Amino acid sequence: MVMARKSDTLSEEVLPEDVRLEASLRPRSFDEYVGQGSVVEKLKVYVQAAKSRGDALDHCLFSGPPGLGKTSLAHIIANELGAGIRIHVTSGPALERKGDLAGLLTSLDARDILFIDEIHRLNSAVEEYLYPAMEDFRLDITIDTGPAARAMKIDLPPFTLIGATTRTGLLTSPLRDRFQIQERLEYYDAQALELILHRSARILGIPLDKDAGREVATRSRGTPRIVNRLLRRLRDFAEVEGNGRISLELAKKSLDRLGVDASGLDSMDRKILLTILDKFGGGPVGVETIAASVGEQRDTIEDVYEPFLMQEGFLQRTPRGRMATHRTYQYFKKQPPPTPQGSLF
Ligand code: ADP
Repeated sequence: MVMARKSDTLSEEVLPEDVRLEASLRPRSFDEYVGQGSVVEKLKVYVQAAKSRGDALDHCLFSGPPGLGKTSLAHIIANELGAGIRIHVTSGPALERKGDLAGLLTSLDARDILFIDEIHRLNSAVEEYLYPAMEDFRLDITIDTGPAARAMKIDLPPFTLIGATTRTGLLTSPLRDRFQIQERLEYYDAQALELILHRSARILGIPLDKDAGREVATRSRGTPRIVNRLLRRLRDFAEVEGNGRISLELAKKSLDRLGVDASGLDSMDRKILLTILDKFGGGPVGVETIAASVGEQRDTIEDVYEPFLMQEGFLQRTPRGRMATHRTYQYFKKQPPPTPQGSLF
């Protein structure tokens, strides 16, 4: 289950139109999964070991910004575990009551995968219910209420829970500690994104020039989902205003029109940075204040925008709040304010 949100920025989590397309573009095996080398190498070993022992794979927690391939990995693991293993997909917000979770857990076969996206958004009653299921493959249920209430235990088949979250810090520690395998996905380099882009273009039958591919890859915020999203928009420009082929010139012009600049920043990235520079003198300023100023949710700022801006050196997180960096001032061709120490940073 995917939470869909309307938005005009390219970095947003999941747009409704992504859902259908992503199903066709999702890599199906470890070999098709580009990048994240060390994570994939480890997972291959764990999957192989579980398979040869005939055991369920240990529970896995994948973290990282949206669109980096957490859901894809869960599907790949299910495929790689072999025929007969099914993946059951849900999300934290969709599991509103204990009964929702109990229904899912009791429908699992041995070694199946239960994938819970946005697992940090599970409510606490459901989360506590999950603990014995994860630890002992057991459900504790209460039948009846009041004096007639009886506790019952139901044995579950050994299964694997795969949780996905934007930040592991959002999970309670009892939940986090129950995942034996915890991996963080990183932003992709341009080379990996180029491979993903060409693969998607091949699947969708979109003619794409090599230099155009490089341009799109470097402007995709290190994120496969954005690569695919840009590819689709560029195809529209190529079909309507060009000859159907995505050339370098068409790619550059279209990306500019989409508001994606040469560093890959989109309009919301720039809005956040300019808010810090112009309204708060370069910071430090609290994330809540930034969120209110730019009209975006705090969580989205922290999960989607900040990690990329920090990685690219546009933003610094300090105990007193977020601060602009030298690079931010350079980028907007602005003078950093002088400080009493004579140096800004
Ligand atoms: P997340 O669950 O982290 O938000 P997804 O797994 O849904 O991300 O990935 C979004 C899309 O990006 C997928 O449908 C897939 O097409 C593409 N993608 C993600 N990671 C990879 C990868 N490593 N190789 C190829 N394509 C990828």
